[in-house]
Amino acid sequence: MKGQTEVSEAVVNRLPRYYRYLRELYRKDILRVSSGELADMMGVTASQIRHDFNCFGGFGQQGYGYNVKFLYHKISEILGVQDNFSAIIIGAGNLCRAIATGPIFTHRGVRLLAIFDNNPAKAGSTVAGVSVYPIEQLHEFCGKNRVDIAVFTVPKAAARESAERILGTGIRGVWNYTNMELDLSTHGIAVQNIHLGDTLMTLCYTIKERSNEA
Ligand code: NAD
Repeated sequence: MKGQTEVSEAVVNRLPRYYRYLRELYRKDILRVSSGELADMMGVTASQIRHDFNCFGGFGQQGYGYNVKFLYHKISEILGVQDNFSAIIIGAGNLCRAIATGPIFTHRGVRLLAIFDNNPAKAGSTVAGVSVYPIEQLHEFCGKNRVDIAVFTVPKAAARESAERILGTGIRGVWNYTNMELDLSTHGIAVQNIHLGDTLMTLCYTIKERSNEA
């Protein structure tokens, strides 16, 4: 397999989508799939799929297609699904509840260990069975438990404070929902800034363009 540093961000960004489709096929006990079949399902071209998989050394056999189980496990491995990543959430509000309650972590092999909040009234409660701790206990918790990912679901005004709190804890990634763009690369921390509103705007734009064409 080629080193992942050679793989473009665009390809990496497509991998979770391959992962979702392959998980579906795997669950349905489908043993193999051709690049054409996968392309039809996903609404992309077969050559794009072959190109993307070639970045990781192929995986397919001429005339056979792709072994679904093998490919599913390979992409899981590339994405770190089997790395047992662990996460905490900072901000025990509405969004935290939505994220913690759904299967978003478990489907991707990430364990949600704890939730932290600065509202003393929330400490000692649970969200989806996960304990909420006072934010002051974050460092101590991370000293006792390996935490890889912090999810920020605090108000925008608390984004920087939360970023400062995680420094020196060993946390290596932030899934940031605060609408405040964060860049923690100088601290060796990867950040994914999530803006659900952006996808809604893209949808509005597409609708507008189509009605202009009609
Ligand atoms: P909320 O008010 O229900 O929850 C916020 C929680 O953060 C509260 O429990 C509060 O006590 C806690 N908090 C505040 N300051 C804190 C601090 N300094 N340290 C620790 N905890 C602190 O809000 P919500 O509806 O869950 O939204 C959370 C954030 O997510 C907001 O910034 C909102 O704008 C954002 N949001 C983003 C998207 C997106 O697509 N990016 C979508 C929805 C909401």
